[in-house]
Amino acid sequence: MNFEDFNLNRQLLNAIADAGYEVPSPIQEQAIPLVLEGHDVLGIAQTGTGKTAAYVLPLLMRIKYAQGMHPRALILAPTRELVMQIGAALGELAKYTDLRHIAIYGGLGPKTQIEALQKGVDIVVATPGRFLDLYLRGEIVVKQLTTLVMDEADKMMDMGFMPQINRILEVIPRKRQNLLFSATFPAKVERLSENFLEGPIRVEV
Ligand code: AMP
Repeated sequence: MNFEDFNLNRQLLNAIADAGYEVPSPIQEQAIPLVLEGHDVLGIAQTGTGKTAAYVLPLLMRIKYAQGMHPRALILAPTRELVMQIGAALGELAKYTDLRHIAIYGGLGPKTQIEALQKGVDIVVATPGRFLDLYLRGEIVVKQLTTLVMDEADKMMDMGFMPQINRILEVIPRKRQNLLFSATFPAKVERLSENFLEGPIRVEV
């Protein structure tokens, strides 16, 4: 299989070539078509499998163009390091598109993040706590969100983010596409997936 076999646009294919990816990894082969079709997807995959591009590429394809002020996709991840890593992958794969993204995490003052949000953004990558904090201050408008991704969901549960995640699920639009990625699938991740995925298709590597 080849990246050209997916319905990705030229901007994404060029960025994939620049990144040096030659063929899709197994998780990408399975997940990309499903996400492009609009399914909710439950992906069981470890770091190093190419799981980030497995959801970032079809997400970029579905969002396509910069539009308005408010984000249309939210990617939640447990740690500042992972948020920064996902942000870097987004930067690399979206470089020929006009899509704007921002990485939001705690540990430093929110001023720069707030200024960036005020310029308009299409994709937000965030830790749950800082996202909720900025939402409650009125700095993030969630009404345009059409896609929610949770990455390393098992780690988010282990780190005690369930209350923040539940609060976020309460305030974002109900009609949306949901993607959940986790390295392991313990009972608490199963419960989370039952709570927020609708008719998910499970892929595993
Ligand atoms: P991840 O599992 O998302 O953390 O990705 C692990 C590493 O694999 C990252 O450095 C990616 O840039 C790289 N990568 C992702 N997809 C591919 C691919 N299809 N071919 C080669 N490298 C890839």
